[in-house]
Amino acid sequence: MDLFGHLKAYDYGEVHFKFDKATGMKAIVAIHDSRLGPALGGCRFIEYDKEEDAVVDALRLARGMTYKAALAGLAHGGGKSVIIRPKTHFDRVALFRAFGHFLEDLRGHYITAEDSGTGLEDMEVIRSVTKNVTGVDPAHGGSGDPSPFTALGVRRGIEACVKMKLGKSSLEGVHVAIQGVGHVGYYLCKELHAQGAKLSVADVDKLKSERAQREFGATVVPLESIFQTACDVLAPCALGSALNDATIPTIKAKIVAGAANNQLAEPRHGDDLHARGILYAPDYAINAGGLVNVAQEVKGYDAAVSRERTMKIYDTIWEIAERSEKLNSPTYKIADILVEEKLGAVGR
Ligand code: NAD
Repeated sequence: MDLFGHLKAYDYGEVHFKFDKATGMKAIVAIHDSRLGPALGGCRFIEYDKEEDAVVDALRLARGMTYKAALAGLAHGGGKSVIIRPKTHFDRVALFRAFGHFLEDLRGHYITAEDSGTGLEDMEVIRSVTKNVTGVDPAHGGSGDPSPFTALGVRRGIEACVKMKLGKSSLEGVHVAIQGVGHVGYYLCKELHAQGAKLSVADVDKLKSERAQREFGATVVPLESIFQTACDVLAPCALGSALNDATIPTIKAKIVAGAANNQLAEPRHGDDLHARGILYAPDYAINAGGLVNVAQEVKGYDAAVSRERTMKIYDTIWEIAERSEKLNSPTYKIADILVEEKLGAVGR
């Protein structure tokens, strides 16, 4: 494995490895950038075919966290960790306790949170060993489910896009088509419905789309036609790579603004959206509400502060959209430039 080649490719940073003899735990902590503060990001616990894949996953994801935290104005850098899930029997509590000791050795340079394969109970085990963990039980100062905050931020981002592109100061009567009404999608429907928006939804899980229909009067659209819905805003809130060669030419909305991570299948798809005159709210800028919320745990959780900070996603999206228009440059490039400016301002 060309380890330093990977580090160079992802613009690193530092990486810590730990093999715990007693439990067999194999863990990686990738700290992409800590110029703005201690790195914050989730811990993955999934199986990998090759250990190299786990390293690359951690590197890739941590870099994204630097960008998300910086743009959200958080005093945190980007980090991510992976505990390679054993393919045979293992003692989960012992593994996560060993991971907690690993974090303690890093002395607060990296603060962990939930990610794929980990949950509140794992964070509680880590908490028994170190304070460098978020996403713990609300009874212990945790911030709870991040989805309502993510949805609030997406609603604010949609408001900024609607003002910029349609000249409307309210979402009253604005038609939003949402792909995926799971955790975030559901709360987004709630937010938008409260503002008077008209909703169309599609979800592979019929029960979820029917719930949105029942509770918020949403129109249920067949899965394959949600992108072609004649609407004002398309909100991808399901999987990554939703914006690709097949979907972009069919989009009827003037705005794409949703919660899903990694919406652009490739960066060039951001250029395609721009060329079509579609205002795209960069995913890591608009979906930062959950991270903003979890970051508050580090200082002592206060939901009101989280809410206030999440509301500011409006300003971030507005700034990106305004610069994009002025410079005739795609929004995903503008968002990256804003991050580089913030990081550049603090120097090395
Ligand atoms: P979720 O799994 O609860 O919801 C996703 C929903 O999409 C599910 O209901 C699923 O059935 C549906 N879905 C999957 N494939 C679909 C398809 N092809 N067409 C229509 N629906 C489909 O996940 P979530 O927590 O709501 O997150 C949604 C997205 O937002 C993910 O990309 C996630 O990474 C991102 N995100 C979530 C948060 C958060 O706070 N949960 C924060 C930032 C980003």
